[in-house]
Amino acid sequence: MENSVTQSGKTTGHENNPYYSRTDTEVLHVSNEEWKKILPPDLYNVAREQGTEAPFKGKYWNSDQIGTYYCAVCGNKLFDSDAKFASSCGWPSFFETARKDAVVYKEDYSHGMHRIEVECGRCHSHLGHIFDDGPAPTHKRYCMNSVSLDFEPHN
Ligand code: FE
Repeated sequence: MENSVTQSGKTTGHENNPYYSRTDTEVLHVSNEEWKKILPPDLYNVAREQGTEAPFKGKYWNSDQIGTYYCAVCGNKLFDSDAKFASSCGWPSFFETARKDAVVYKEDYSHGMHRIEVECGRCHSHLGHIFDDGPAPTHKRYCMNSVSLDFEPHN
């Protein structure tokens, strides 16, 4: 789907989502009951129920296009393609966020593991996890779900 930005900061494909904005950085407080009415089921499952998409199946895991990645739930700017690297894990992987407060981190003890969960800093939707096996300079790997991301190519 073409992702053209309108004057309100919305993009096509998000007309039914009143919270989606590429420009508004105010933190959102929206219930899951409300999100469930707005989001497609696959996005709701990952973003609001900490689901994980199948590896090597998402739309961005092996993409190397130049552009910007936004939160698919709220439009918050998350990653520049400059920070994306080819990872063998099967999910889109980045070594740093586009800005310091783009995401927030949470301890995650689910599935018998201790991991650091990564959430969108604006809407607190689940994006994925962060690991310490990324490339220089940060050596971090933000292991993200494609479905939680919206990509806008640079022209
Ligand atoms: Fe968000």
